[in-house]
Amino acid sequence: MDNNFIPFHLPSIGQEEIDEVTQTLRSGWLTSGPRTAQFESEFRAYVSATFSQAVNSCTAGLHLALAALGIGPGDEVITTPLTFCATVHCILHVGATPVLADIGPDGNIDPASIAERITERTRAIIPVHLGGLPCDMEAIWDLARRHRLYVIEDAAHAVGARIGSMPIGGSDRSDAVAFSFYATKNLTTGEGGMVTTHNADLTDRLKTLCLHGISKDAWNRYSEKGNWHYDVVEEGFKYNLSDIQSAIGIHQLRKQESFLEIRARYADLYRQALTDVAEVEVPLEREGTRSAWHLYVLRLNLDRLTIDRDEFIRQLRHKGIATSVHFIPIPLHTFFTSYPGLDKSLCPKAMELYPRIVSLPLYPAMSESQIEFVAGTIKDLVHQFSAARSVAVSARS
Ligand SMILES: *Cc1c(COP(=O)(O)O)cnc(C)c1O
Repeated sequence: MDNNFIPFHLPSIGQEEIDEVTQTLRSGWLTSGPRTAQFESEFRAYVSATFSQAVNSCTAGLHLALAALGIGPGDEVITTPLTFCATVHCILHVGATPVLADIGPDGNIDPASIAERITERTRAIIPVHLGGLPCDMEAIWDLARRHRLYVIEDAAHAVGARIGSMPIGGSDRSDAVAFSFYATKNLTTGEGGMVTTHNADLTDRLKTLCLHGISKDAWNRYSEKGNWHYDVVEEGFKYNLSDIQSAIGIHQLRKQESFLEIRARYADLYRQALTDVAEVEVPLEREGTRSAWHLYVLRLNLDRLTIDRDEFIRQLRHKGIATSVHFIPIPLHTFFTSYPGLDKSLCPKAMELYPRIVSLPLYPAMSESQIEFVAGTIKDLVHQFSAARSVAVSARS
């Protein structure tokens, strides 16, 4: 890969993943089996969780968690406007009412705003660790304890992120944590996800709901003893992860720490290059936490620039650099406009931030020189389109 075109993302898939998939295909066991069991067990060890259920997406994991906790019609669930639509869809899937809280300075959900949204109908909070930066979980857990709310973390970006020495997934103060292994995520199985918990009862519910509502005991008897009998005990889903995908996940997980080190190093290179550039703001970091650096969300100081964000993106694209935006706030999507709990008046800070954000390419398959090229190109661009410069130029003429 050279500097002629830098894609927004490329997965890092090695020979180990390819060989394991080949062996899986030859093994005769394609769906959830020994490799999924191995991936589940190694993953829960990595995030210090007690139980883990592999699922075919993070979306499925969030839906399962909400369903397993018995959240449904009449219940309100508070989440962030700066997330992927899936976070909100899951709340609607169980018939509950989504309610937005606003974001804080770091772009994550603001606990003070959550507190303002809590009513007697509120049952759960879904914080999202945006870009892999851990939310202020102490404040969120504290609110949850005082108001007897469930906490389900959307950790789609946060495999390996930590608060102090505790990995996301490691605390029993959250009821469930859902991770994503989608193609563009830090750790990928193409499509996939994992739900972790420390609650044994919830695990049983997750396992049953994940596979057609078939009771786990009956299923074990069925698969182990060759017994043909099984029993459907509730309205379940089809959310299991196949062994073909888990084969990829097993090897991605072994590389995750080195992936995270590269991401952190690259984020630091971006920070060093851009922190003193007045036209932009580098992402906030939180003392005592380790971000998974899934995203590098740069903020433009639009009053210091003569171009807007969309033109900035076009200019970068013209120089061969692909970028993205995370995220289009929930209230701006057509479908969500009919939900009062998703109104943009609930999240003025997210609405204000949205026109300023652009996500830079950041992934282990990039080279250090490509990171430097992106940072250098941004410096040149903001110099070219600096409002200060245009004032100086017009004063001279
Ligand atoms: C990607 C993503 C999801 C959904 O993950 P899937 O595995 O694709 O279902 C959920 N929430 C956030 C914040 C995401 O970025």
